[in-house]
Amino acid sequence: MSYLLTAKNLSKQFTQTHGFFSRKKTVIHALDNVSLNITKGTTLAVVGESGSGKSTLARSLIRLVSIDKGKITFNDKDFLSLDSTALKNTRKNIQMIFQDPMESLNARHTVGEILEEPFLIHGIGNAQTRRQSVSKLLDTVGLPARSASRYPFEFSGGQRQRIGIARAIALKPELIICDEPVSALDVSIQSQILNLLMDLQKEFNLAYLFIAHDLAVVKHISDRVAIMYLGKI
Ligand code: ADP
Ligand code: MG
Repeated sequence: MSYLLTAKNLSKQFTQTHGFFSRKKTVIHALDNVSLNITKGTTLAVVGESGSGKSTLARSLIRLVSIDKGKITFNDKDFLSLDSTALKNTRKNIQMIFQDPMESLNARHTVGEILEEPFLIHGIGNAQTRRQSVSKLLDTVGLPARSASRYPFEFSGGQRQRIGIARAIALKPELIICDEPVSALDVSIQSQILNLLMDLQKEFNLAYLFIAHDLAVVKHISDRVAIMYLGKI
């Protein structure tokens, strides 16, 4: 059985100092020998209380956090030793959705510009095809075409998360890492976003690493559940 992504024995420590005048240091094992794998087109949920290392895990899987020890393979390639060109190409294939899209979406840009950006970064298409791709993305996530000329602050939390999702699927990734994407939303809106994510999974054969602090949230969407506690699975 070949996996889309495997992580073996990931470890990451942070050292925290306690204020300017204190010499006391605490070492935090944010990740303590974490191993997991994700199969194409399936959802692995990672559930754990606040501070258990979920975001550090998410960020280390896309090399936003550099781990101290461990191995990550994506599509049978050693992800940690990719050169910058190969890393850029692989990053098309692994996207991330965050808890608060207001923080991750550039507030000064229109939604159209935000959704066009991935195509620009990777030099895909021309102005006209990019505009078409943006309208198609908006339609796919259930937002009206006129959203393209608006700014993120003009949308509700749930709509903003749809924008974040549209940006994540723009380049047709195989894996999306979702770091508590519904934690900040009202319960009724949560299920709409979860349904959208499940529809997109079917349509595009997406794999998700879905992080939550609440088991109830992941019950319907996950194929497997990993529980994190103090940096361990
Ligand atoms: P979670 O997402 O499950 O709430 P995090 O991965 O954010 O957990 O944090 C795990 C632990 O690592 C926490 O104790 C947190 O304070 C610590 N931590 C996370 N990032 C940093 C950092 N950049 N510097 C120092 N400590 C950090
Ligand atoms: Mg977190």
